[in-house]
Amino acid sequence: MTTFVPKTVGFQPKERNIFFHILTACNLSCRHCYINPEQHGSATLSLETIQRWLRLFVDPVKKSNLIFLGGEPTLHPDLAAGIKTARELGYRTITVDSNGFLFHNLLDRISPADAVISFSLDGPTAKINDPIRGEGVFATCTANIKKAVALGFDVSLIYTVSRINIASLHLMPMLLKNLGIRRFFIQVIGIRGKSTVYTKENLQLTPQEWLSAIPPVAEKAATLGIHVIYPKVFLSEKEEFSCAGKVAENYFIFPNGRVYQCPLCEDFPVHSFSIIDDKLVKNTGLTEDRFFSLDIAEGCVMNKLLQPGNLAYDEHGRPLYRISCCLLKQELGDIPIKDRNLS
Ligand code: SF4
Ligand code: SF4
Repeated sequence: MTTFVPKTVGFQPKERNIFFHILTACNLSCRHCYINPEQHGSATLSLETIQRWLRLFVDPVKKSNLIFLGGEPTLHPDLAAGIKTARELGYRTITVDSNGFLFHNLLDRISPADAVISFSLDGPTAKINDPIRGEGVFATCTANIKKAVALGFDVSLIYTVSRINIASLHLMPMLLKNLGIRRFFIQVIGIRGKSTVYTKENLQLTPQEWLSAIPPVAEKAATLGIHVIYPKVFLSEKEEFSCAGKVAENYFIFPNGRVYQCPLCEDFPVHSFSIIDDKLVKNTGLTEDRFFSLDIAEGCVMNKLLQPGNLAYDEHGRPLYRISCCLLKQELGDIPIKDRNLS
């Protein structure tokens, strides 16, 4: 039997990742939604604006990975046209993160070569998923996953782990296998957006809970032929800390023109850049990037500032562990063939 050992995926200097929220509207109201209209706006970008902003962020000499997000991005009537433009501009990978409703017949308007469809489910059954994501969501989402797989689309699935659904995580690998999904993202719940109204005790996991639950499930999925990606979260003593804000290119774009480098900062007006008149303008003042260089014993500085409940100290005040950059991932299992061929 093959043993799968998780590998830490370092930040790639020759890549840029563009997380493009083309609207913030959504048909659902998930318990842990991170969208914050006060900070991110409530606009729906026009197709022309989407196309201009896509031109702004593509880098011809780097592998530019694009993720269309919302709200629910398929609510946008021109998403298919936006995807076609992104392909013409040379984006190397294009993903649509959908809650599973796939509005405006998206699958009939693009081809499997155009984009990966990433679905979100937070439970292996309607009984677990629907209290978190909404009545009837499990049935709709799984029906559309089956449709996408049958049409030949590359499909991935995101499961956001919290105290509410961690006990059911072990049932997900078999569900994914049965649905024909080849890639599984296990996400940690963040204290952002609506999650901030719940207490840490309700939703966030302790290091022990995370480390005892996630790696075994990831290994089980890998043995079923599924490629698994999950956040590193805790660094061992020997592992080096690195802030993606300093060493990688990530842009989290919102419809009000804010552009963040660090997703933990998205509830605050500390974005590094703004898009003004279709140009990317560096902001001055107390912006997120001023914090990236701070070298602290706890690892990620934004985690310490915004989610200090994640940390623990010994009797001398030394941190018991360091928190990695939230963008640092572990992966295991075979890489899907299509991605290997992207060179
Ligand atoms: S589907 Fe996404 S955007 Fe919509 S409510 Fe759920 S988490 Fe928020
Ligand atoms: S999560 Fe922490 S380490 Fe990662 S970009 Fe933000 S501040 Fe830097």
